[in-house]
Amino acid sequence: MSWITDAHIHLSDPEYSKEMPFILKSMERIKLRACCVSEDYESSQRSLDLGLRSRLVLPFVGIHPQSAIDDLEPVITLIDKNSERITGIGEIGMDKTYVSDSEGLQRQEKVFRNMLSIAEKLRKPISIHSRATLDNILEILSSYSISGMLLHWFAGSKKQLKTAMESGCFVSYGPSMVYAKDKQVLLAQTNNDRILVETDGPVKFGRCFGLKSAQITFLTSVIFCAAKVFRKSYDDMSAEIEQNCRRYLGV
Ligand SMILES: [Zn+2]
Repeated sequence: MSWITDAHIHLSDPEYSKEMPFILKSMERIKLRACCVSEDYESSQRSLDLGLRSRLVLPFVGIHPQSAIDDLEPVITLIDKNSERITGIGEIGMDKTYVSDSEGLQRQEKVFRNMLSIAEKLRKPISIHSRATLDNILEILSSYSISGMLLHWFAGSKKQLKTAMESGCFVSYGPSMVYAKDKQVLLAQTNNDRILVETDGPVKFGRCFGLKSAQITFLTSVIFCAAKVFRKSYDDMSAEIEQNCRRYLGV
């Protein structure tokens, strides 16, 4: 059994805090690592703390578009002080659904560009949120030199997927793929060496997941579904995805 990695989960969310000892123990048992993304200063601090509690938690630090603020100093200082312990920068990006005017979107872009410059300088991979802004984001990324770029919860068109592949991005698919045919069609069109898997917990998932908050163990269903789409064995599929993840993280 090879290691598997959840490419995007908010383990620092308070939703998980009570269960954390159990979560960390089960991660050891089923050989599972997690890229633990953050949304603001507080969650970034919590992600770093979790990284200290377990070697299986890989802390990502950053400012989510929903938390885009003008004063970036506290987060920048946090990143500078802990750059050795930070695996990557995220969750960062843009999202038109969170703003009502162009000023709000400009603020998101400013924060996003700032985070990209930091990732470029520190040579860290990034985890990107791109809802309703994918074309814009792909355009912005082209002016930075970052080796590990992940478009998390990829939900673009086939054309956007092609551009993402040409730009060298990784894309990740999550639990909704298990019941959504359109996601499986998109996966089938994705370059095999660019696929990652995620749960984006604690997001809730419907259908077979019964509107439960995503648990890190949901990841195995996502890999099983991908294996079915590509007609591979579970072991081959998970080994392939894990190799992709190592390239994404640069380890
Ligand atoms: Zn997320």
